[in-house]
Amino acid sequence: MTKFEELGLKEEVLKGIRDLGFTEAFAIQEAVIPVLLTGRDVVGQAHTGSGKTAAFALSMLQEIQPKKGIQGLIMAPTRELAMQISDEIKKFGKYTGIKVATVYGGQGMGLQLDALDRGVEIVVATPGRLIDHLKRGSIELRDITHIVLDEADTMLDMGFIDDIQFILDLAPEDRVMSLFSATMPTEILRLSEEYLNNPKQFLLDADDLSGEGIDQAYLVIKDRDKFKYLIDFIKPTKGQCIVFCSTKYRTRDVAKFLHQEKFDAVAIEGDMSQHRREQSMSKFRSGKADILVATDVASRGIDVPRVELVVNYDVPNQEMAYFHRIGRTARAGAKGKAITFVSYSSVGDWNIIKRQIKVPLKDLNQEMGIEISIPDPLKRQMPSRRYGGQSRGGYSRGGGRSGGYGRSDRSRNPRDDRGSRKRYNDKDNRNSYGGRSRW
Ligand code: ADP
Ligand code: MG
Repeated sequence: MTKFEELGLKEEVLKGIRDLGFTEAFAIQEAVIPVLLTGRDVVGQAHTGSGKTAAFALSMLQEIQPKKGIQGLIMAPTRELAMQISDEIKKFGKYTGIKVATVYGGQGMGLQLDALDRGVEIVVATPGRLIDHLKRGSIELRDITHIVLDEADTMLDMGFIDDIQFILDLAPEDRVMSLFSATMPTEILRLSEEYLNNPKQFLLDADDLSGEGIDQAYLVIKDRDKFKYLIDFIKPTKGQCIVFCSTKYRTRDVAKFLHQEKFDAVAIEGDMSQHRREQSMSKFRSGKADILVATDVASRGIDVPRVELVVNYDVPNQEMAYFHRIGRTARAGAKGKAITFVSYSSVGDWNIIKRQIKVPLKDLNQEMGIEISIPDPLKRQMPSRRYGGQSRGGYSRGGGRSGGYGRSDRSRNPRDDRGSRKRYNDKDNRNSYGGRSRW
C-alpha cells in the first residue's frame, strides 16, 4: 500500500486526510489519483466501500483554486449521497480554503442561493436541481475544470442521461472528467467513450461483484412470515442495520411495525418530505437510530461505517441493486452480513441474482430447518442448494419471539413484494432516483 504522501498531493490536502486518520491510500485511490493529477480522464470501478470518494475528491482539491469561481462539479443520483460527498470533501479540504455547495431537490432554493452567493469552488449536485440553477443563472459552468459522475452507471442510465447531456454541453470541453461506480456494465463503459476523452480505465474488480467481506445468506419464506424473521435477525445484531424494501409502502409499513416492537428505526423513501429524509439520515448516521428501513434510494453510495447487517426484506428489482444494497455494509475493509428474504413469488428473480454471486451463499432454509411449502407452479423456479452445507454459524435466530405478527397487516398487499423485474436500462426506471420515483 502507498502512503498518501507518495501520491503527489500538497500539504494542505494531506493535513485534511491526516485529521481523518487515513494513512495508507486504498487501491483505487493509489491507482486513480496520480492519473487525474496529470489531467487525464478516468473511469474508476472498485467494489462498494473501497474509497472512491477520496479517489476523485483529493485530486480535485489539489488543483482547484480558492476564489476563482466554480471549478469542480460532482453529480450523484440521490440527495443523501450528494450531501454525504459534500461533507466528505469539506473534511478533506479543511485546510485548502475551498468551499463546497450542495445542490439538490426538495430543499428551498433560498438556502442554496445564499451558499452560492458566498462563493464556492466545488458544487455537488443532483442533476435536476442543478439544471434549475443553470437555467436561472445562479450556477455557471464556464470555469469548470473537473467533472465527476459518481454512481456513473446510474447517471448514464436512461433516467438521467438527457439531464447529464444538457449539463455537460454547458461545461468547457477542456476539463478533466471521471466516472466512478462499483458496477460498470459494458454498455455504460461503451457509452463513457462518448463523454470522456481517451479515459484511462481502472476496473479493479469488475468480474467480482460478490461483495468482499460480506457474509451472504438467503431465506425462502412466505411473505407474511418476513416480519417475524426480520425481528429474529435484527435482535442479536450489535451494530446498525439497513432493511431494504421494494416499495415506499412497504418501507413505511416495516418501519411502523419495528416501532411497535420498540426498535429504534427510521425510514427513508422518496415520498417523504426532504426535512424528514434528512432527519432520518442524521439519526441513523449519529447512531441514535439502530435501523434504517429504506427503498433503493439508500442503496447507492451511502456510507455509514457501523452498518453490520443488510436485510433485503424484498428481493431487489435489478441485479445491480443487490450488490449496491449489500455494499452498505463491510465498508472500508470491515466485515458485514447480508440476508435476503425471498418470498415464493420472487424465487425466479432471486435465481437471476444468485447466478451472479460468486461466493458461497448460505441457504438458511437448510441451516434453520425451515421447510419451503411452495405452490406447485412455482416449484420449477426453486433455488438450488449448492452451498447449503457450508454452515459457519452466525445467522442463528436470536431466539426472541416477536409474537403478535402472525396476522400481519402486510398480507393485505402481498403483491407489493414482487415489483416487476426491471432491466438495467428499462424505460420505467426514468427518474428512479428523482422526486417522482417509485422509491
Ligand atoms: P465507495 O465510494 O468506494 O463506496 P467511500 O468513498 O464511501 O467508498 O469510502 C468508504 C469508507 O472508507 C468511508 O467511510 C471513508 O471515509 C473510508 N476511507 C476512504 N479512504 C480511506 C483510507 N485511505 N483509509 C481509511 N479509510 C478510508
Ligand atoms: Mg461512493
